[in-house]
Amino acid sequence: MAEELKNAVLEKFGDIVGTAGLVTEAAEIAPNLIEWRGLYHGRTPVIVAPGNTAQTAAVLRICRDQGIGVVPQGGNTGLVGGAIPHSTLQRPEIIMSARRMKAIRELDADNYTITAEAGCVLADLQAAAETADRLFPLSLAAEGSCQLGGNISSNAGGTNVLRYGNTRDLVLGLEVVLPDGRVFEGLRGLRKDNTGYDLKHLFIGAEGTLGFVTAAVCKLFSRPKGLATALVAIADPDAAIALYSQARIALGDQLVAFELMNRLALDLVVRNIPGTRDPFEESHSWYVLLELGSAQAGPVADQLMEIFLADSMESGLVRDGVLAQSSAQRAALWRMRHTISEAQKMAGAGIKHDIAVPVSKIAVFLRRAEEFVSRRIPGVLVVAFGHLGDGNMHFNLNQPANMKADAFLALWSEVGRDVHSIAAELGGSFSAEHGVGTLKRDELVRLRGGVELELMRAVKDALDPAGIMNPGKIFSPS
Ligand SMILES: Cc1cc2nc3c(=O)[nH]c(=O)nc-3n(C[C@H](O)[C@H](O)[C@H](O)COP(=O)(O)OP(=O)(O)OC[C@H]3O[C@@H](n4cnc5c(N)ncnc54)[C@H](O)[C@@H]3O)c2cc1C
Repeated sequence: MAEELKNAVLEKFGDIVGTAGLVTEAAEIAPNLIEWRGLYHGRTPVIVAPGNTAQTAAVLRICRDQGIGVVPQGGNTGLVGGAIPHSTLQRPEIIMSARRMKAIRELDADNYTITAEAGCVLADLQAAAETADRLFPLSLAAEGSCQLGGNISSNAGGTNVLRYGNTRDLVLGLEVVLPDGRVFEGLRGLRKDNTGYDLKHLFIGAEGTLGFVTAAVCKLFSRPKGLATALVAIADPDAAIALYSQARIALGDQLVAFELMNRLALDLVVRNIPGTRDPFEESHSWYVLLELGSAQAGPVADQLMEIFLADSMESGLVRDGVLAQSSAQRAALWRMRHTISEAQKMAGAGIKHDIAVPVSKIAVFLRRAEEFVSRRIPGVLVVAFGHLGDGNMHFNLNQPANMKADAFLALWSEVGRDVHSIAAELGGSFSAEHGVGTLKRDELVRLRGGVELELMRAVKDALDPAGIMNPGKIFSPS
């Protein structure tokens, strides 16, 4: 099949994108065939990287005509196997990359918008906004590698959702090449535009199954002039929910982040990530990292945070706390939070869950889920952390000392089903921010079947009748 693709089509691709946009060397393709956790290994004879929207459209037209599957890939940091070409489907698949489309097309400071191409790395987008004294608030641990097109297609969340929303809330306009090569030209920087269906939302979070995103207009914000960041020790998740409620009252919209992590998460970081240390003398069971962003420069943010922490200690909600005294200390506290996934990866085999429940149900979820997994896998290590302010927990498990990695990982889907069911019983979601991809297709059928799934399939069939866009992702291959 790969040979057939080579002989019939590679030359045409080359004519469109040039040698700079075509990768056919197996060694060069190899890193793009493994997802971040190593769970999926795919195959493809070629990576096609168009240099602009017109080239993207021309390549997609060929793929549609020839029945070739197109797997969009950004920074390949997604965690559900969405950007990896299948190794099982019979039809050939190419990876389509936006890596050559990374221009900032326009920064309109007065409109508080930035228009950027899909291959823009998130950290570069943040830096571009900063040069105009503006903030692009999307922030996640993979920001040095993930790309805007991937962020949009996975509706990425991250650590600032509480204040600024998910990627969906940050996108005002989109340019998308449809599977038949037509271009949806929706690059409008408008905050009000009630002109029929808001089509851009179909493509945000679509995981590359409906079209290839080439550019977007994103919202910018004023940069907070004062930041106060604190790590506090608390007794349990119930205390975290109470503290969150108090923080909303005391700090209002200035509360930017509210992240919960358990002792084991912190331990793993301190043990495995060089240069990190536990800032507390005593060991505690749970911690919250919270941040406040103030429009005023100077000590205002710190003073507000100090008052809030003092009140919370007096009421007994907070047992101990450290307030960052410099930007280096702030970065060190965030580094602890951002490196939990990496530290967990270094500590052995891991089973991961990315669930959401109403914030008020987080503690119940954690109790029920921990009780269940401890019964099912005696000695299992629970690494629980996440964006409590968004009701989103990464309820992750590490292998028990006496269990082989393979045997442990073989339990993933069985245990996952029960953990997801616990979240669903509490009105929650089995995938809060990572999407469905390949990993959670069966759960989509089990937990969101019926009309919801029928509507999703109808949208897919309407936009991609030939089924070439990211085959086998979100929906199982038919
Ligand atoms: C350490 C770590 C921490 C993370 N933390 C978070 C977090 O806090 N919050 C969060 O939401 N996610 C998080 N993630 C997951 C991941 O980083 C995000 O989902 C990110 O948005 C993916 O971007 P990407 O460019 O790497 O996309 P990829 O992984 O390359 O692709 C993701 C999906 O988007 C599709 N896609 C990519 N580009 C395009 C395009 N141009 N057009 C159409 N479809 C496209 C792909 O086909 C795939 O389905 C984390 C990942 C890691 C490794």
